[in-house]
Amino acid sequence: MLSELRSLSKLIFPVACIGCGAAQVEICPSCSGLWSAPPILSRLDSLPLAFTARYQPRVQRFILAAKEDGSKVARSALAHSLSASLRTLMAGKRCEGVLLVPIPSHRATIRARGRDHGLLLARAVSQNFGTEVDVAPLLGVIRPVADQTGLNPSQRAANLAGAFSADSQLIRRKGRAAIVMVDDVITSGTSFREGARALTSVGCPPVAAISACASARFLPIRLHL
Ligand SMILES: [Zn+2]
Repeated sequence: MLSELRSLSKLIFPVACIGCGAAQVEICPSCSGLWSAPPILSRLDSLPLAFTARYQPRVQRFILAAKEDGSKVARSALAHSLSASLRTLMAGKRCEGVLLVPIPSHRATIRARGRDHGLLLARAVSQNFGTEVDVAPLLGVIRPVADQTGLNPSQRAANLAGAFSADSQLIRRKGRAAIVMVDDVITSGTSFREGARALTSVGCPPVAAISACASARFLPIRLHL
């Protein structure tokens, strides 16, 4: 009965690649390659940063599928990319574990989506590691913020200035672990900067940030390869 239902649903909703629409696969080899490319190591101000994909329409479809539709296939692709970035950034670093801190969404956004995309993504990354990588969702949005889409870098910075707070539990959770911020997209870097400010204000400065993809618009200005 179940297999008949699955066959029926495939007839009604044919499987297609999330990124490019290729038939009969949820993710085609070409789109899979977007997320398994070697991480690009960079810096945001003085903070080490790594990401895998450049922001482009195929990449955007994966981000939206994970964020807005809750697609596990898309989330898994992003987590694969983020895990490679984390491995690359932390290779050779002497620390007792990693605490992944997701860039937070406003509570109203989480309610409207029906899921905390950032938290689910960070958990999916930690599942690719052992107990040495844990998730600490201790950043929160403490005042209403506008959707960053369509804002220029200075408007984004003003929109998020002082908008995050870090839970003081973080100091207890941190121990001797390294704090690494996680997000799906870096555009101007405003969210990571605000996250770093809030974390540093409670005595827990991040050692790095990882993003699944980065906007090419700001690569030459913001990121020094
Ligand atoms: Zn594809």
